[in-house]
Amino acid sequence: MITYDKLFIGGQWTAPSSDERIDVVSASTEEPIGSVPAAAAADVDAAVAAARAAFDDPSGWSTWEPARRAAAMENLADELEKRGEEISRRVSSQNGMPIAISGALESGFPVSLLRYYANLVREFDFETEQPHLTGGTTIVRREAIGVVGAIAPWNYPQALAAFKYAPALAAGCTIVLKPSPETVLDAFALAEAIEASDVPDGVVSIVPGGRDTGAYLVEHPGVDKVAFTGSTAAGRIIGATCGQMLRPVTLELGGKSAAIMLDDANLDLSVMGERFFESMLVNNGQTCYLGTRVLAPASRYDEVIDTLAAFMTSLPVGDALDPATMIGPMASSRHRDRVEGFIEKGKSDGARLVVGGGRPEGLDRGWFVEPTLFADVDNASTIAQEEIFGPVLSVIRYTDTDDAIAIANQSDYGLGGTVWTADPERGRDVARRVKTGTIGINRYMPDPGAPFGGVKDSGIGRELGPQGLSAYLQYKSIYA
Ligand code: NAD
Repeated sequence: MITYDKLFIGGQWTAPSSDERIDVVSASTEEPIGSVPAAAAADVDAAVAAARAAFDDPSGWSTWEPARRAAAMENLADELEKRGEEISRRVSSQNGMPIAISGALESGFPVSLLRYYANLVREFDFETEQPHLTGGTTIVRREAIGVVGAIAPWNYPQALAAFKYAPALAAGCTIVLKPSPETVLDAFALAEAIEASDVPDGVVSIVPGGRDTGAYLVEHPGVDKVAFTGSTAAGRIIGATCGQMLRPVTLELGGKSAAIMLDDANLDLSVMGERFFESMLVNNGQTCYLGTRVLAPASRYDEVIDTLAAFMTSLPVGDALDPATMIGPMASSRHRDRVEGFIEKGKSDGARLVVGGGRPEGLDRGWFVEPTLFADVDNASTIAQEEIFGPVLSVIRYTDTDDAIAIANQSDYGLGGTVWTADPERGRDVARRVKTGTIGINRYMPDPGAPFGGVKDSGIGRELGPQGLSAYLQYKSIYA
């Protein structure tokens, strides 16, 4: 059992102001694995006050030379790296992410991101001069936006928190992070890393809690910007609040991306299996950008289905902490109910169940779902339009490339996507025509150095890359 009795607020371990606790259960065994205090409103107030004071300090974090902030961020990266194994273990125990991938994605990625933004700000022009168009000079400054309220989901709790705090720290902002209740244990490991690092007190606080805690943070008068990753439903509410308050907000929301198999796609699993896994199924399907609508050409329709069926049945399903596991359990019992509800809906709507559809044999504990493949799916049906967030793929038939692109674009979402082809030029042409924030050709792997985010119901704004830093800066023009 991992138990904490204090909250990490303003750089100090502080007694919580209420007795409320968050108990965490293993997704693989359903056994209790940890317990932490929940942050009450008074704790969020204290966290925001600490962030405000740290930001407004005339010689504090936001006023440091970028190189000094960069050094502190690199030191935090080192502290996180030391705790890497513990962090990936905690993440995998909580949300079911196979341990085979959580080391790179949940421990490694935040470390790389801190180092990337540390390097970026060393070179970054926070202040430039240009001629004033009516004579004289204008100084254009990029100033840190202030106190950031950052809200992360449970599926990649460390990486998606780092998508926010790494550029925010680089910009000179201070942060109050609210992790999801499903994944609080790794957030406390992050707190320990921050405490041990050269990042000053008050710059980052962590307020574990659910929706109400998040909502309280979003509308807190001391917050200057909100950065959110989560469902489209919650994003709409948060966006509405921020709109009313004229508070800048970044929203990274859901997705239902298309994997467009062109008629010359390589379907050899010995070459493509790992790439299919990364772009369609990684983290048990609990990944926002996955291409879960597989668009198959009529000319190779059966071949695509047979390949995916063979692939999905070959993936070892099991305890997330077993290094051989490729598909772990769903993050919670409630979430598995939701995924199973979609599978039932797929069947009743007339899609053809090719493999899976039930619970894996021999796994009596843990919230497992069999990797499930539907064929003959109508793109207008529920399983093709709504985000399932589980190991469920739907194959949709198309006639020609224009038809494939039209189907890909018939979605309320626009976050990820892939094009599979032996001809890279053809792949790029198709990728340019898909309405989406990101898309991969013969693979999908977000690039820390390039903007990531969605169009349509997948969100507003971009994270990662230099654009991710801009989201934490605001312009000031001085007419000198
Ligand atoms: P969720 O929206 O239920 O919760 C996300 C976070 O927001 C949690 O910390 C939750 O406590 C908090 N929250 C919920 N309602 C809130 C409100 N009204 N005000 C403030 N905070 C609130 O989502 P989830 O189930 O934790 O995560 C899964 C969703 O996240 C999926 O839809 C997935 O696509 C999306 N996601 C998007 C991206 C992306 O980059 N676009 C990445 C990962 C996950």
